[in-house]
Amino acid sequence: MPDAEDRRAHAMERARELGERAVDLTDRLAHLEAGESPNAADVKRARQAAQFSAALVRCGTGMFIVENDAHALVRRRASLAHEMAHVLWEHEFTTVLVNGDGCRAVAPAVEAEADRLGGELLIPFKAALAAARREWSDEEVAAAFEVSVPYARMRMNLSGARKVASRQRAARSRA
Ligand SMILES: [Zn+2]
Repeated sequence: MPDAEDRRAHAMERARELGERAVDLTDRLAHLEAGESPNAADVKRARQAAQFSAALVRCGTGMFIVENDAHALVRRRASLAHEMAHVLWEHEFTTVLVNGDGCRAVAPAVEAEADRLGGELLIPFKAALAAARREWSDEEVAAAFEVSVPYARMRMNLSGARKVASRQRAARSRA
């Protein structure tokens, strides 16, 4: 069983590979909805869900993310990062749907893992630490990383970046 750091490194490596293989989802969806995939029904259900943010849909041996382009860009980015994190962790799933409360029918520990890696994809820890050292506000972090203010606040706090920066400041002032 690889440790968490190995798994994270593997996931980030996969992120770089997959980044080069983005496809036009509107085009892909049109094909799926025309019945070219056994999972077309999943795609339709996903689109019709009132709170729908994003979904992972299996397609042959691969998978893709369907997302709701009616949402604000900052929300779309957060939804995509979360879904991508499930892919990168290689979480087991059938069809994963995200609504306002997170994915349906996914174990809380798995959700937490996807949330953490999603946060790392949008605001890497090193960048969060640099922002914390500059004493950026939540609003400044949100603007710089194209996320919502609550998302920026959550990431800056949960990543521990502000705590680390403030400890480093305290250590410097004692020196
Ligand atoms: Zn999820």
